[in-house]
Amino acid sequence: MSDIVVILPDGSELSVPEGSSVADAAYEIGPGLGKDTVAGVVDGELVDKATALHDGANLVIVTDQSDEYLDVLRHSAAHVFAQALQRLHPEAKLTIGPWTDQGFYYDVTNVDLDMDDLEDIEAEMADIVEEDLPIERELVDREEALAKYEDNEFKREILETEAAGDDPISFYKQGEFEDLCKGPHVESTGEIGAFELLNISSAYWRGDEENETLTRVYGTAFASESDLHDFLEMQEEAKERDHRKLGQELELFSIDETTGPGLPLYHPNGKRILDELADYAKQLNLDAGYDPVETPHLFRTELWKKSGHYENYVDDMFLLDVNDEEYGLKPMNCPGHATIFDQQSWSYRDLPVRYFEDGKVYRKEQRGELSGLSRVWSFTIDDGHLFVRPDQIEDEINLIIDNILEVFDTFDLEAEVALATRPEKSVGSDEIWEQAETQLKAVLDDSGIDYGIEAGDGAFYGPKIDFAFKDALGRKWDGPTVQLDFNMPDRFDLSYTGEDNEEHQPVMIHRALYGSYERFFMVLIEHFNGKFPFWLAPEQVRILPISDDQLGYAKRLQNRDFGDFRVGVEDRSWTLGRKIREAQEDRVPYMIIVGGDEQETQTISVRDRKERERKDVEIDDFRAHLEDEREEKRAEPDFLDE
Ligand SMILES: [Zn+2]
Ligand SMILES: [Zn+2]
Repeated sequence: MSDIVVILPDGSELSVPEGSSVADAAYEIGPGLGKDTVAGVVDGELVDKATALHDGANLVIVTDQSDEYLDVLRHSAAHVFAQALQRLHPEAKLTIGPWTDQGFYYDVTNVDLDMDDLEDIEAEMADIVEEDLPIERELVDREEALAKYEDNEFKREILETEAAGDDPISFYKQGEFEDLCKGPHVESTGEIGAFELLNISSAYWRGDEENETLTRVYGTAFASESDLHDFLEMQEEAKERDHRKLGQELELFSIDETTGPGLPLYHPNGKRILDELADYAKQLNLDAGYDPVETPHLFRTELWKKSGHYENYVDDMFLLDVNDEEYGLKPMNCPGHATIFDQQSWSYRDLPVRYFEDGKVYRKEQRGELSGLSRVWSFTIDDGHLFVRPDQIEDEINLIIDNILEVFDTFDLEAEVALATRPEKSVGSDEIWEQAETQLKAVLDDSGIDYGIEAGDGAFYGPKIDFAFKDALGRKWDGPTVQLDFNMPDRFDLSYTGEDNEEHQPVMIHRALYGSYERFFMVLIEHFNGKFPFWLAPEQVRILPISDDQLGYAKRLQNRDFGDFRVGVEDRSWTLGRKIREAQEDRVPYMIIVGGDEQETQTISVRDRKERERKDVEIDDFRAHLEDEREEKRAEPDFLDE
């Protein structure tokens, strides 16, 4: 038998006999590791340890110490839920039950469940964990599998779609329960240290609103009770910070049924923040040599046919018929920018050409998927497109990464970075892919950034670097990407004249610093819990006169001394205590408190939202302090130096 070679996470190669499984490879590395192996990640996909390896596979061994272990554990918890459900409600039909970032869910039907039922199911789940049933993989003949699901059209559909070519079919069995499943799973139900069912909602089969509505039960699981406890506390905190709740309380934005779903309306407070974000991005772009451009919201669909979006994207586009011609709201800004580039002739000396636009785009997501600012129909991308020579890729990517990391730093967000490489189906020559991936890798290696490889996860038209935002609660959100594109320059027949006087095709780079304003705004609201940095805060300072006698002094401070900032005056005849509480709830970074003494000495008292206070502050000193804080865009307001 001949050997195959698999690639381990450190880049080293391991030779194993053909037909070896993940577990065999682990034993090859060491018997201890072999014994501890729970599952494997092969080419980015979490798989059962019995999965056979192919030559050239990227292999990560998963033990109970790996990050992926939690996914495996949660998937097993989903099975325990399904088993408990079937013990208590044998009529229930199971559909799918995957793990998620937060836990797991199972979509079921033919059963009516409420929160009280969940308690009973949880008790039954506890028994199943207590029973410590071994979880075993079982290979079942296709015929037999279909027969098992005679009454379950959903599982049959899976057998006929995702599992169409498989025979035998992979099942997992624990006690009397079995489920059509690719795995992987932990060894036994007793390994599930702690779990909880969280919620019931509804979902469409396959996420398609044309299909049957199912009942979705959410739960989570952890290896230990204390991990579960921490998670539930974090959930509570997240609920408090929910951007939809804060968006309303702080009057940032609203989404109105009459004006349409997924179409956010920004109120003055929200718009002030968006404007600051836009100014900041614009400055970064101008400093990096970008030129601003602007394109309309609407194009003839000819453009989308040319760019290829029409083919792949038409179901997500809003189309309009104008004088018997078809138009579409733009789902992306790139074709507009490519067209602008194409209107001029370029020499190799002109490149790179860099365009940017805060471009509003429209994508028709399923209504059931829409949620606050995180999933919307209309959103604005801080979009940049570069047209570069192949030899310029490295420098340009370097510059873009610097800018993106500056954004992370400014907002005190942690970055999680991944390089997504060539997928199976792709356009462009081997040579250009090789060159592009090598350059992206070199940039990431030089920058010292910790990054992962998402093998085969690149776009069909080029490799990309994905940045995720990690917020104050440790949650991860999709962030900006830097994407190389060999396809669009081809479709638009873009060219420049090279040093050799021949026509050459530029490489296009798509990049954003924030991603979309909507998503980024959502992240910021929750990350800061509405306590925006001073430079972003819609109301930066509120002046609280102790009595109406100081109203005139307060107005003078507002208009003259601090006229350059966003300053409010609290003119309601409340007690000072109530005025402070109100400003605190509105998360205003600074309060200026003025009474008879302050007016007399022409000074101020200052209080911040962390309840730090100072009296007898000179007006000019405080103004200078605010100017610095704004200028430096400090993420955390810091108090006056003592
Ligand atoms: Zn499963
Ligand atoms: Zn683009």
